[in-house]
Amino acid sequence: MRPSEIRRRGLLFVLSSPSGAGKSTISRRLLDGNPQLSMSVSATTRPPRPGEIDGVHYQFVDHGRFEAMVAADAFLEHATVFGNRYGTPKAPVLEQLQAGHDVLFDIDWQGTQQLSESAESDIVRVFILPPSSTELERRLRGRAQDSEAVIAQRMSKANDEMSHWAEYDYVIVNDDLEASVTRVQSILTAERLRRRRQVGLTDLVRTLQLRP
Ligand code: ADP
Ligand code: 5GP
Repeated sequence: MRPSEIRRRGLLFVLSSPSGAGKSTISRRLLDGNPQLSMSVSATTRPPRPGEIDGVHYQFVDHGRFEAMVAADAFLEHATVFGNRYGTPKAPVLEQLQAGHDVLFDIDWQGTQQLSESAESDIVRVFILPPSSTELERRLRGRAQDSEAVIAQRMSKANDEMSHWAEYDYVIVNDDLEASVTRVQSILTAERLRRRRQVGLTDLVRTLQLRP
């Protein structure tokens, strides 16, 4: 049996950061290199940005639909960010976890707190910091997706998001992108190897033990 075939519980891998610090970029790289990791696609009431695809980047819904999903208990967590509603649909996440796959979440500190309450032993929380506030602003402008007013709003919200860094298990300063991707991948690899997550180990060890 190869180590990758040992039955294992899936984990909830959360990446949070102030907007612009690089979590979407790091997420894309992680997903490329990990077939057993899938992205949780959130529902949101915010309008799509140029290039964003419904069902891929977000499920874009109106306020009525969002509230109906809240009432139907269809979210694992939900929160208001920058005046828009965001939520993590429950069913696809539970399906992935039950199959022993891992799920990647790009959610804010409010969502992370709610997930921590419901999935304490299966959650791994990583916070991404920018190397400086000047660089954070440069990245927000460089992304060229938001108006000046939205950039100013995101910069002022960054303090609030960053004040929650100590609630996370790991913190990465995203200066060099390649180094950050390697570090986040190392965290994922190590967390997958935690003894309590490798539920198939007992069977393997039984087959390894020599008979008297
Ligand atoms: P977030 O998802 O946290 O809002 P993004 O991943 O969209 O942030 O990154 C914001 C911008 O910064 C993008 O243009 C991205 O290419 C760039 N970026 C991300 N990481 C780095 C890095 N380490 N060095 C330089 N630019 C980066
Ligand atoms: P953006 O509008 O830039 O895509 O996301 C804004 C913020 O909302 C980011 O901090 C992102 O992590 C957060 N976010 C995205 N989806 C969810 C979600 O489903 N739940 C919560 N709580 N936050 C989310």
